[in-house]
Order: sequence, then structure tokens, then C-alpha cells
Amino acid sequence: MIKIGILGAGGRMGQAIIAEVQAAPDCWLAGGVERPGHPMCGTVIGDGLIMGANAAPVAHKADVLIDFTTPDALTEHLRAAMDSKTAILVGTTGLSARHHAEIDEAARHVPVLQAANTSLGITLLAALVEQAARALDPGWDIEIAELHHRHKVDAPSGTALFLGEAAARGRGAPLETLRLPAHETETGPRRAGGIGFATLRGGSAAGDHRVLLAGEGERIELAHLAEGRDIFAKGAVRAARWLSGKPAGRYRMAQLFGL
Ligand code: NAD
Repeated sequence: MIKIGILGAGGRMGQAIIAEVQAAPDCWLAGGVERPGHPMCGTVIGDGLIMGANAAPVAHKADVLIDFTTPDALTEHLRAAMDSKTAILVGTTGLSARHHAEIDEAARHVPVLQAANTSLGITLLAALVEQAARALDPGWDIEIAELHHRHKVDAPSGTALFLGEAAARGRGAPLETLRLPAHETETGPRRAGGIGFATLRGGSAAGDHRVLLAGEGERIELAHLAEGRDIFAKGAVRAARWLSGKPAGRYRMAQLFGL
């Protein structure tokens, strides 16, 4: 049995992952963590409790931690994983360069899989976007549009940036050098070879991503539409199973899906 600890257990993703772990015959809930004062603190899950703030006790009981919380909580969650030598899946988005440096450091001590999107569909879409961007010359403009529910706090979504990184890899340059500012803040002709982003927020959409490759006289669209959070939860539990027992290192969803 793989013992899984859920960080952000009362959240939308936390709840979806708990349901997925409960349905998996080879996984067990070791407990969860929420911010102090959250109404779900004290709730029993598996053979543990949802505890307020401190991730250390859950980390010591778990084989793998699954973190879908906020970037502010990441430092403490990585520390808990390192102190207990527990693998950790980081699904939280809105991470900065500092957070990525902390993940690299943690990955020297424990297995860490960081994924802005844990679905099979987006992992495959990123591979297709990279291939398309490599095949097409910079005369083709790349724009990435995303739609999410009204509660989402970061923009553009971590998945849109992840797809942007895939497109930039295809173009052979880091995204930082190719990313265009929002078109409404910088008017005038579009910079050749740049990658643009557009964000929509509303309703209960779990996450739509469209990558437009626009050339002279023709356009290609590659899209992924998430119909529910269960695809992310299924991918997260699959990733936790895969990560358990791996040596220390930083891993990607593409490795898990063999892409
Ligand atoms: P949410 O707000 O519903 O859930 C986050 C939960 O974390 C909340 O219950 C909050 O109280 C809790 N939390 C905050 N600080 C905490 C702390 N220090 N310790 C423990 N718990 C804490 O949000 P959500 O929709 O579940 O999304 C969570 C994160 O996952 C976001 O960054 C979102 O963008 C990301 N996300 C990633 C994927 C993916 O596939 N990787 C998919 C969906 C969402």
C-alpha cells in the first residue's frame, strides 16, 4: 500500500485527490494538512487527520506527499518532505523562479515531481506543441489562450506557461526571451517569433487551453478541454504511485507517460 499525505486537503483539488485515493485499491490516505482554522481541520481521512498548518507529522507517516495549495506554503512543504525523506508531488501553480530553485534544491534530497498540469492530455499536448513549434519557422505566430473558473488566482495559468515553455523549447530559446507582454499594454506590430498569452476567467470551467499557430494564409489550433478536476486528480495519484520509491531527483509528467 502506498501511503499518501494530502497538502491542501480541504481545497477543490485536495478533495478530488482524496476521492481518487479512496477509490484506488493500492493507495491509502496517511492524513492531510490545511491552513489553521479551515473548517476541515480535525476531519479523519484514512488513518490520519486533517491537521492545521504543520505538514511534518503527515510527512513522517506518508510515502508520498501531494501538494495542491499556494506558492506561499511551498517552502515549508518541501522542508517537511526533506526532513522526513518523503517524495513530494508539487501541483501548485503560480510558482516563481525562487520556488523553482527551492524545488531543485529539494530534489537533491528526495524525489520531487513538479507539474503545472497532471493530466495525460496536457502532457501530450505539450509534446505536440513543442513538435509543431520546431517544425514551423518563426514567421508563424504562437498565441496561447486559456479559460478557467472564476476562483482561479494566478494568470496566465501555470498550464499556459507550461505550454509556452514547450513552444519556446521547439523554437530553441527560453520562454523568458520569447514571451510577449499583454497585447493591450504594448500596441504596435507583433514581435516576430514571440509567444503571446490571453486569459479568460469565469464560471466553473476546469481549464481550457488553446494554442494557436498563425501563419500567412493558414492557422493551426491545438486544444485541450478539461471536463472536470478528476483528470488532474487521477494523474496526481498515478504520479504519486510512480514517484514512490524513486531515487532523489526532479521528475516530469512526460517521463511518467513515456513521452
Ligand atoms: P483551492 O483554493 O480550492 O485549494 C487550496 C487549498 O490549500 C485551500 O483549501 C487552502 O486552505 C489550502 N492551503 C492554503 N495554504 C495552506 C497551507 N499553508 N497548508 C495547507 N493547506 C493550505 O485551490 P485548488 O483549485 O484546489 O488549486 C490549488 C492549486 O493547484 C492552485 O495553485 C491551482 O492552480 C493548482 N492546480 C493544479 C493542477 C495541476 O494539474 N497541477 C490542477 C488544478 C489546480
